Amino acid sequence: MDTVLVIGGGATGAGVARDLAMRGVDVTLVERGDFASGTSGRSHGLLHSGARYVPGDPEGAAECIAENRVLKEIAPHCLSDTAGLFVQVAGDDPDFFEEKRAACEQLGIETEELSAADAREAVPDLAEGVERALRVPDAVIHPTRLTVANAVDAREHGATLLPRTEVADLIIEDGAVRGALVEDGSGEFEIRAEYVVNATGAWAGTLASMADIDLEMAPSSGVMVAVEYADLDTVLNRARPAADGDIVVPHDEQVILGTTSVDVEDPDEFERDDAEIDRMFAECGAMLSGLDRERIDRVYWGVRPLYSADRERHAGRGISRGFHLLDHAERDGIGGFASIVGGKLTTYRAMAEATSDRVCKRLGVDSACSTAEEPLLGRDEPGRIDGLVAEFEADNPADSDVIAR
Ligand SMILES: Cc1cc2nc3c(=O)[nH]c(=O)nc-3n(C[C@H](O)[C@H](O)[C@H](O)COP(=O)(O)OP(=O)(O)OC[C@H]3O[C@@H](n4cnc5c(N)ncnc54)[C@H](O)[C@@H]3O)c2cc1C
Repeated sequence: MDTVLVIGGGATGAGVARDLAMRGVDVTLVERGDFASGTSGRSHGLLHSGARYVPGDPEGAAECIAENRVLKEIAPHCLSDTAGLFVQVAGDDPDFFEEKRAACEQLGIETEELSAADAREAVPDLAEGVERALRVPDAVIHPTRLTVANAVDAREHGATLLPRTEVADLIIEDGAVRGALVEDGSGEFEIRAEYVVNATGAWAGTLASMADIDLEMAPSSGVMVAVEYADLDTVLNRARPAADGDIVVPHDEQVILGTTSVDVEDPDEFERDDAEIDRMFAECGAMLSGLDRERIDRVYWGVRPLYSADRERHAGRGISRGFHLLDHAERDGIGGFASIVGGKLTTYRAMAEATSDRVCKRLGVDSACSTAEEPLLGRDEPGRIDGLVAEFEADNPADSDVIAR
């Protein structure tokens, strides 16, 4: 019998598989598509410094800066350490800028104020209206690399990886989840487990319903537009309350403009409105000049795995939303089953640690988490990672342009 079945091969599920496998637990990871083909590989790819979330959410910001520092140590081969600027544009409230800087300083998030001239020296193509900027330790994540590195690291610690394998139903016995019925294209089979982790992100409600558990997600879609543009090498954030199109993420030869926030019913079927693309050019163009619609390489939408409790608590997309570990034995009286929902790509490792701590407690495994210290697979041989991505044929829009094929 497999000890733990992890469902969902995004960053979170792959992170849980790695964490548990490193603690000596037998794990099987199943993913219905390719690794990171859900939200992880369709995100904006900002490794948050936490600056975006202050002053409103100091806890969420503290979580981000802690994970930002950990990932820069353990996974530099899955990141580009570009730093970031919050830019104040003519008409933006200068008090917002000051409050952000003060709140960053309070939390120990390093900042440096740049005059308009200094900011332009750092980024010659800043739009004309930029009045000043605040440098923060943001960076860029390449989520397909990150997810595959976690999955293969889990495999090197004994885990079984099953991409393109979809859970069709959960096996329930004596009031507990004991595995799943899966389909892999060649047919259906059972995977039995002592414990099952639901790491299916925006799809977590559908998965939980297979155990008759009511888990209401509040998925929200956002557009990203990848445009050819070689001259930006730092993240740009707009220094104003969160709104559409206020982040530009640099890649080697492109920039990724984003994003929007639209509530959706179904994370697979939702309206993709071209007007959102126009908004990206208008809003991001207030920070960066020379964006050209003719040079769009790809447009993609992702769906945030928000938990409904967060939607009720926080209206507004800029607000950090922490993650939620739902132990269904406590919450719903169904044993052997937990769901991990909400959170961010930036905090995937902390989400995996919290989940694995709970699973180990339930299984009586006495072994501590080491993922904050142990380098992620491939760190010391960065050329290896894209070969592994190719092995799994993972090809996702968030980083398809940077992965060597
Ligand atoms: C527009 C947008 C922009 C974002 N930008 C950022 C950002 O810049 N920085 C940041 O930190 N975060 C960002 N996020 C948030 C971040 O992308 C997500 O929080 C994170 O990627 C979620 O990872 P996950 O592993 O939990 O979910 P996912 O990556 O969605 O993984 C869940 C997986 O479960 C699989 N699955 C579902 N059902 C089944 C089943 N029945 N059987 C098997 N597998 C199944 C899915 O295929 C999917 O791959 C953004 C999100 C969006 C939508």
